[in-house]
Amino acid sequence: MNKLLVISAHSADFVWRSGGTIAKSIEQGAECLVVCLSYGERGESGELWKEDPNRSEENVKIIRKQQAQDAATILCTKIEFLNWGDYPMVISEERTKELTKIIGDFEPTVILTHTAKDPFNPDHPLAFQVTERARLLSCGAGVASAFKNIDPPMWYSFEPHQPEICEFKPDTFVDITSVIDKKNKAMNCMGAQKYLVDYYTELASRRGNHARRISGNKAVKFSEAFQSHIPRITNTIF
Ligand SMILES: [Zn+2]
Repeated sequence: MNKLLVISAHSADFVWRSGGTIAKSIEQGAECLVVCLSYGERGESGELWKEDPNRSEENVKIIRKQQAQDAATILCTKIEFLNWGDYPMVISEERTKELTKIIGDFEPTVILTHTAKDPFNPDHPLAFQVTERARLLSCGAGVASAFKNIDPPMWYSFEPHQPEICEFKPDTFVDITSVIDKKNKAMNCMGAQKYLVDYYTELASRRGNHARRISGNKAVKFSEAFQSHIPRITNTIF
């Protein structure tokens, strides 16, 4: 069975960057789990703080959790929240072990997360680093190790907000045309970052254009782009 694990630094990132791929994978019979390392309560909740500068951080977390939960329900995925805090996120060995255990328990076939670089965000590269390390601890051991050893999952970065500056080079496009309405509904749950809905709908359309040109498949209208980190192994060149 195909299993998709999405590791999101903040509680909204997974929706903008991979909501269509999550919905499509589930429609295709895959099991999906989203892990939000934090709620993005400090760095990505500007509109909530603008609405009421006196609200507590706990209150922002509650709202952000509900929004992400609602989006996950629309996409039909399971979701977990680790509450690691944001801006700055801190990665300890304990937290690395926590994520390693989640990977071992879920046994994903594919992992999606952030890019290694993001000069405009202090937490996204940390999410990449902890994912890389936890993935290796889950599957890299050639001998008995402290962690459950699973088959190595494929893993990809999803598209960052400013791809060129993050050295993002997409090599995989997922056609999300059939699920774009679902992605739109999920994006609209994220009240804290409403302006991003238009931005990511346009991006999906632009990536759809690229996917159409690359493949010659005129049916592709919307797409999400990813960058792979390990070679794909097949038994045929075709
Ligand atoms: Zn983020």
